[in-house]
Amino acid sequence: MIEMNRIAVVGASLAGLRAVEFIRRAKFEGQLALIGDETHLPYDRPPLSKEVLRGEWEPDRLALRRKSYDDLNVDLMLGQRAVSLDTDAREVQLESGDTISFDGMVIATGGHVCGLPNQPQLDGIYTLRTLDDSLAIRAALAAKPKVAVIGAGFIGAEVAASAQQLGLEVTMIEALETPLAQSLGPRVGRIVQEAHERRGVRVHCGRRVEAFRGTDRVDSVLLDDGTTVECDVVVVGIGVSPSVSWLEGSGVELEDGVRCDATLATSVPGIVAAGDVANWYNPLFEERMRVEHWTNAVEQARHAVATLLATPGEAKPFESVPMFWSDQFDIKIQGVGWPKPTDELIVARGTAESEKLIALYGRAGRLVGAVAFNQPPKLIQLRMLIGKRGGVDEALEIAES
Ligand SMILES: Cc1cc2nc3c(=O)[nH]c(=O)nc-3n(C[C@H](O)[C@H](O)[C@H](O)COP(=O)(O)OP(=O)(O)OC[C@H]3O[C@@H](n4cnc5c(N)ncnc54)[C@H](O)[C@@H]3O)c2cc1C
Repeated sequence: MIEMNRIAVVGASLAGLRAVEFIRRAKFEGQLALIGDETHLPYDRPPLSKEVLRGEWEPDRLALRRKSYDDLNVDLMLGQRAVSLDTDAREVQLESGDTISFDGMVIATGGHVCGLPNQPQLDGIYTLRTLDDSLAIRAALAAKPKVAVIGAGFIGAEVAASAQQLGLEVTMIEALETPLAQSLGPRVGRIVQEAHERRGVRVHCGRRVEAFRGTDRVDSVLLDDGTTVECDVVVVGIGVSPSVSWLEGSGVELEDGVRCDATLATSVPGIVAAGDVANWYNPLFEERMRVEHWTNAVEQARHAVATLLATPGEAKPFESVPMFWSDQFDIKIQGVGWPKPTDELIVARGTAESEKLIALYGRAGRLVGAVAFNQPPKLIQLRMLIGKRGGVDEALEIAES
């Protein structure tokens, strides 16, 4: 058994900070370091595509910890990038040249945005992951530009909605047949598309970007059907890659993120992972998954810490029902479970036109997911039902009650 005197948490955002808090709550009294490459204190990302982008919130509202950090007795190492990991020596090397020793480690390095392969170096093209990204886009939107959003996943759709709420001309471009088709399936995706179109966002689905045009600054985007979308600002929101390059060659097994077992333990003893970076086997769905949602980062941080500090053989599996929310215009979309486009979809309550509905995803009679538009209370009950491996019939009763 590894004696835990020093724990290093790498990644100083939601999962990393919560891991530090759970470690101290578990009465760990040894040395604790939180290493993060951003210079800001840990902050919350969801408002970056919503309130911050629209200029309604200033960055000081985003602090993930309102209390002092002193009580945590943590060595807060901000602006420090981990560049490699030596699992034999149990040391993490930082870009500054410093080396941090550890007995136990929580990997919480999350993800970074992907760019398009043909994305040129033109002014006016942005991606959104960090506070600095959000403030840069917000400043650009203040000039009242025409906006093109490439990628209609959650972040892209939220950026498009926020820009439209600012009164801007917005075009959203998506390679799949509808927005959010991959996560919610095309039928629910179509509802999201119509909600955007009803409010004036132009949506091009099933279209790829052929080229960006402009001399120093982008002035238009050419689509693969020959359409030219005029724009002064482009936000590329085509997805996230797990931030694992610093782990290559370390012996920590990688597979679309950090490969973990059901307990969130990695292939190296005494090293666990949590949040957007963790790819773990979820026994509830009998498959591996990597979840990029806020609630998962918090719940996994708690569980990964429990695994790290557990006596050998006592760690428990992280059986979880993923959960998310997404605010677009005045619509609160909430989802639970892990649906696939091939699942049976039943609209159990409400209608697409009213933008108030509950849709259920069933697989061989079992409830595997649910999404609600402006119907918050039912989702918690449906989440519990999925956790109990409940059936679609029971879900229908909940949704219709
Ligand atoms: C704009 C935006 C809006 C969102 N909105 C919602 C929402 O409405 N609902 C929802 O459920 N979820 C939302 N999310 C997702 C949610 O914020 C993420 O799931 C959550 O931030 C994951 O936390 P994390 O700590 O695992 O990873 P991250 O937040 O990605 O944090 C990882 C940290 O590690 C740092 N890091 C990376 N590599 C290194 C390294 N080598 N050395 C040191 N530090 C490193 C990163 O810079 C970062 O600070 C949103 C995300 C974004 C970006």
